[in-house]
Amino acid sequence: MPAYQSVLLKLSGEALMGDDSYGINPLTIEAMATEISEVVQLGVKLAIVIGGGNIFRGVAGGAAGMDRATADYMGMLATMMNSLALQDSLRQKGVEARVQSALRMDQVVEPYIRPRAIRHMNEGKVVIFAAGTGNPFFTTDTAAALRGAEMNVDIVLKATKVDGIYSSDPKKDPLATRYDTISFDEAIVKNLQVMDATAFALCRDRELPIKVFSILKPGALMRVVNGDPEGTLVHV
Ligand code: UDP
Repeated sequence: MPAYQSVLLKLSGEALMGDDSYGINPLTIEAMATEISEVVQLGVKLAIVIGGGNIFRGVAGGAAGMDRATADYMGMLATMMNSLALQDSLRQKGVEARVQSALRMDQVVEPYIRPRAIRHMNEGKVVIFAAGTGNPFFTTDTAAALRGAEMNVDIVLKATKVDGIYSSDPKKDPLATRYDTISFDEAIVKNLQVMDATAFALCRDRELPIKVFSILKPGALMRVVNGDPEGTLVHV
């Protein structure tokens, strides 16, 4: 019996990049789809929010002189490409997946419709939420917190390149230690970066726990879902 019956998995765009410096690496996305399919086979209801940083980030467009809101819409379109790629990969593994977009793109994917998304999840389909929140100046972390709360999942799983939350930056500080668990309040007092501030506040408000773990460790997603020791749990 998995520890969590329903989860929202937040994947950064970089999780699809592998060792490349840009875009979607075919072997990486295939490996990701395999790990996801194993979790789905356990009967866990799964929704995914995927970032776009492997293709385009609004902040980079803004820094290069673009109108920031326009650049953010481009970032949201990048998440659409990643979502379609992941849907395709999952289907190749025999997993039913549906992309729902916060920005309408009716010829390609369903629009975001909450009851329909819930129904898909109840039917065992993976729902991939594309285009973040649909609003510029937000991030896909916030979309993950928002959709996680709307889908009423047990936990938000934030897959990163680091295997949890550390007392300080483990790349710079050899004495940095990893927390197995930490409360929302303690994370604030210690000024630890878990998700961006809006996402963090939303999860805290909704009493929605967050698990931060490394996507680079094979089998980590399965261990997290099973409740085995892995990453850092942020709890109320
Ligand atoms: N974005 C946005 N609103 C949202 C979600 C995303 O404007 O609700 C844009 C923003 O420009 C962001 C880009 O989409 O830089 C890609 O998302 P994000 O940076 O969160 O992706 P990740 O870092 O997880 O790959």
